Amino acid sequence: MHADLAIVGAGTAGAALAFFAAKRGLRVVCLERRAAREAGARWVNGVPGWAFDAAGLDRPRDAEVFGAGHEMHLLAGFGPRRVTIRGHDVLELDMRALVERLQRSAREHGATLVENARVLEFDGRTLDTSAGRVTARWYADASGLAGARLLEQARVNATDLCAAAQEVRAVSDLAGARAFFERHQIDAGHTACFTGVAGGFSVINVRLAGDRVGILTGSIPGAGHPAGQAILDRFVADQKWIGARLFGGARAIPLRRPLDVLARGNVALIGDAACQVFSAHGSGIGAGMIAARLLADALAEGREPHDYAVAWHRQYGGLFATFDSFRRFSQSLGERDLDRMMAAGLLDEHSARAGLEQRVPRPTPGAVIGALRGVATERRLALRLVPALARGAAAAAHYARYPDDPRALGEWSARAARIMG
Ligand SMILES: Cc1cc2nc3c(=O)[nH]c(=O)nc-3n(C[C@H](O)[C@H](O)[C@H](O)COP(=O)(O)OP(=O)(O)OC[C@H]3O[C@@H](n4cnc5c(N)ncnc54)[C@H](O)[C@@H]3O)c2cc1C
Repeated sequence: MHADLAIVGAGTAGAALAFFAAKRGLRVVCLERRAAREAGARWVNGVPGWAFDAAGLDRPRDAEVFGAGHEMHLLAGFGPRRVTIRGHDVLELDMRALVERLQRSAREHGATLVENARVLEFDGRTLDTSAGRVTARWYADASGLAGARLLEQARVNATDLCAAAQEVRAVSDLAGARAFFERHQIDAGHTACFTGVAGGFSVINVRLAGDRVGILTGSIPGAGHPAGQAILDRFVADQKWIGARLFGGARAIPLRRPLDVLARGNVALIGDAACQVFSAHGSGIGAGMIAARLLADALAEGREPHDYAVAWHRQYGGLFATFDSFRRFSQSLGERDLDRMMAAGLLDEHSARAGLEQRVPRPTPGAVIGALRGVATERRLALRLVPALARGAAAAAHYARYPDDPRALGEWSARAARIMG
């Protein structure tokens, strides 16, 4: 089989790329090791609405939307201290429906999606797959964290891996469910996000949606904490109002900053395969879809895969590196630290909203004054937080200078590593 572009993986990033590239007139083959209906994320994910606009995709509707417009209550441990984010732009999506839309759109525009075709080897010119050999002018690795590794990407360190689980379950006792949210002073239908419940960067996120409940958990087992699935199972066992599992899944998410090398020669990486994940909460859907769009545009316009890397890193690399610097700091925070940060105003609605929406924070003068007061009252925490923020600011400036010439990447990467520490 021969194509202009061969894509490995038909999850969000791969299916989006197949759609964009086919729409721009390229002959596309997309290889998926599973059945198409089992590809990619099979659970509910929070994705900022702006990511769809940036990728040029219609915003989700109907069956794709599990929830929208709810408040997010970020609690230190199990509370009562909290930061509440209202009116944010993050949609809760049933990823099964979104992946299906992207795959369908790709097929409608002429892309060939080959199911149950596992890529076994790549010698730089040919993909050896369980369904035969495939050659192409360009290759894209959208096969996720544990995928085909077309550029022999380095493995992610255990302390930079989040083990996450998400399930949608039936509610067996609605009164019990309401009582649970009432106890935490949250109106039913809004999100309770209990943070720092099993070490730094751990979370139990719960929202009632009619007669169903969405539960998301995550943590870093490499730092000695229980995995997301174990946290979820324990939570469900403790909460007698939660009933049978309807759908969901569990997997590792790479949390490190996106790879410096997103493309080499005729090969590009997108999505989790490129660690394009907003690591402050392990979100890769928006970044992967945008990467797909930038890559498809570059190839369709006769530019090189490296030009996509330049476009993605200059626009988003600094933002992702900045929040990764914050993520590394937050990994060292326990439940009590979070409580004190919230009490001191070092974590407030402005900064939490920016993190949730994957945007650069634009604090109001009032928020800046509040944060400065917080620095004065919580010196010990501030001494750890301020260097992390300074590293992020330096990284943002550096990513804006991501080199046009791939030969300058070695030097650029070395400096990025020095900045990020
Ligand atoms: C429980 C959980 C909750 C999450 N919550 C959020 C969230 O709220 N918001 C958010 O944005 N992100 C979230 N994420 C992360 C998000 O799901 C991932 O970032 C996203 O799915 C990555 O998409 P992808 O297309 O790059 O890779 P994947 O979804 O991993 O898709 C890769 C595809 O490649 C296929 N494949 C792999 N190897 C091969 C091979 N050798 N040959 C052929 N095919 C292959 C796989 O079968 C798979 O279908 C969450 C993740 C988990 C686990």
